[in-house]
Amino acid sequence: MNQTAQILFPVNVPTAFDYAVPAGLSVSRGDFVYAPIGKQMKLGVIWSVGAAQTDKKLKEIVDVKATRPLSPDMLDFVDWTARYNGASPGNVLRMVIRNYKALDPSAIVTLYKPSGETPKNLTPSRAAVLREGGPWPARASEAAARAGVSSGVVKGLVKAGGLIAKEGPVDPPFDRPDPDHPGRDLTAGQDEAAQDLVAQVQAGAFNVSLLDGVTGSGKTEVYFEAVAEALRRGQQCLILVPEIALTQAGLRRFKERFGAEPASWHSQMGEAARRRVWREVAQGRCKLVVGARSALYLPFPNLGLIVVDEEHDTSYKQEEGVIYNARDMSVVRGHLSGHSVILASATPSLESLHNARTGKFAHIILPERPGAAVLPDIALVDLKDNIPEKGKFLSQPLLDAVAEVTSRGEQALLYLNRRGYAPLIICRNCGEKLKSPDTDSWLVQHKRTGRAMCHLTGFSMRMPRECPNCKAEDSLTSVGPGVERIAEEAQEAFPDARVEILSSDTAGNPAELAERMRRMEQGEIDILVGTQMVVKGHNFPRLTFVGVVDGDLGLAGGDPRAGERTYQTLVQVAGRAGRADKPGHALIQTHQPEHEALQALAAGDREMFISVELAMREMLGLPPFGKLAAVIFWGPDPKKVDALAKKFLSAAPRADGIDILGPSEAPIGRLRGLYRRRLFIQAESGVNLSKYMSIWRQKVRPPTKYKIQIDIDPQSFM
Ligand code: ADP
Repeated sequence: MNQTAQILFPVNVPTAFDYAVPAGLSVSRGDFVYAPIGKQMKLGVIWSVGAAQTDKKLKEIVDVKATRPLSPDMLDFVDWTARYNGASPGNVLRMVIRNYKALDPSAIVTLYKPSGETPKNLTPSRAAVLREGGPWPARASEAAARAGVSSGVVKGLVKAGGLIAKEGPVDPPFDRPDPDHPGRDLTAGQDEAAQDLVAQVQAGAFNVSLLDGVTGSGKTEVYFEAVAEALRRGQQCLILVPEIALTQAGLRRFKERFGAEPASWHSQMGEAARRRVWREVAQGRCKLVVGARSALYLPFPNLGLIVVDEEHDTSYKQEEGVIYNARDMSVVRGHLSGHSVILASATPSLESLHNARTGKFAHIILPERPGAAVLPDIALVDLKDNIPEKGKFLSQPLLDAVAEVTSRGEQALLYLNRRGYAPLIICRNCGEKLKSPDTDSWLVQHKRTGRAMCHLTGFSMRMPRECPNCKAEDSLTSVGPGVERIAEEAQEAFPDARVEILSSDTAGNPAELAERMRRMEQGEIDILVGTQMVVKGHNFPRLTFVGVVDGDLGLAGGDPRAGERTYQTLVQVAGRAGRADKPGHALIQTHQPEHEALQALAAGDREMFISVELAMREMLGLPPFGKLAAVIFWGPDPKKVDALAKKFLSAAPRADGIDILGPSEAPIGRLRGLYRRRLFIQAESGVNLSKYMSIWRQKVRPPTKYKIQIDIDPQSFM
């Protein structure tokens, strides 16, 4: 009998399909192959080889692509991700294979680089090419574009002796990181932690370490040693960071430590850069990748270490398409591939802390900052006793603290995680609140751009002069503060200070962000008003005061992790102060000074917070003591969405240890014109919730235009 093979295609299919292997063709698991699907010829991956379960005549595989196959652990990882998260394996494979061109070797083209000689007849355009055409080697068109001249000038420089031309790959390999390039001298505490991590890598088997160190304690320097060890063993390393922490300054630290720029991977990169990283990783040549969450699905054939930096960060959860948590999936990847995983944070998630305490993860602690730097002192400002002036949001203690540090030539940060000028626009005449046209969310006023914006969908319009409801003119008024309004207030209070805003509106692209960071680092800003963009990993040596405008902001809403998130964010924000030799302090304005998260912050007592929070979770059976899943129903007609949710509920399989809550309207009841209803499923820790949900999901088929979305371990409660 002929051999058969099962092929998975990177499209929305629930399973691999059977094909016949024609005589003379030999295939193995992980091979890329061409095979017909419908009327098309498609590239898929051999998922298994063996006898078919059918008597039907099978279609034949046409050809095997000459490229390195996916490794067996990668295939297992795709299956695991799909099974755990209730996604189709084809869709997960699509996250792995993004661009077929990356399977072929790089095209060979003519590349140019300076010869080192001064060319004959150095015209201004030629000089511009030599000055601005790099990085070299470059294609004529690239160098010309960077220098703002025509390609002819670049080619002309070869004859004139200024450039040399050579054939080479368009996508060159990355420089090799050198593990023995000298790094910083570690403190005794750091060195001990580093040795522990190195030993974990040397064990050459699956293990997870929680690197738990206060802000600024040198976690990056410490995990660099584990990276170096994996590199010495010839293995590949992946460092995951939250997308907004993936900055030039961050990459520069890798270059300083390893003598070579790492490959970086994020959602905004172009096709060519993506193809280059993918190919080099897949071939095993690229040894060091620093990337946002989706880098976890790059096809590393020889992974030796994954570091998840800021492991508590919510951006590790992908909320669209295949819903997965890259932090948790990193641990799965480590398990399947048999290597070390390091989770690093100053404010670890309760899940990871629980795993460390119960011995599942090694717990490696860095209790202090190196050198003279000390942790900032945190105090609460009770807004009931310290009422800001009418129409203002900064209380006297905050203003006093800003005055004090700026008079010493130091810097202050005012933190408010709200973009724009005001979160609500209301008509004084009729009470109408400006709402997004197709979504249940208020429009946010942006004064800088003169627009009203929906932050959920990106909808925006010019700020109207009259109320859209009662048509009264100039009756619209702003309610509450955003960063623009706080900056305005700070500028009024400190007319001579240089006040700037840092949010995704003012620093939307990496270049703008880097420029603002540079100005802050060099003391060209006195008061920085920022959203969560300021929280991530930046070091400002002159920043000595952090004022939190609204410490209660994260506490509202139905998120069971609200207290935890507030605690984490505020520790991280306060941790921006006092990074160098100057001590820092932080003040948090709040209406709920008695809240345990805020009390623990003020007392500097993390243990108190963790034990109260864990005890509460245990009592309520919430993660990490129980499991949670959400089901969201979407559709254009609210009655039919209700009906779909009810039908789904009535199809729930019987099982012990399962509690179902809902259905109810989701907090965002309408998004982009679609209505949303929600169910929560709470399960005891012994239940296989993924399996239960998958059996349930198969019982109900939504009508077209309607969707049932399953979210295992939800992080967002919108
Ligand atoms: P974390 O990741 O814990 O917040 P970092 O690794 O970013 O800490 O270190 C914080 C700052 O302290 C960085 O500027 C880093 O270069 C510096 N630093 C850390 N360890 C040392 C050391 N042993 N010697 C000198 N500088 C250090």
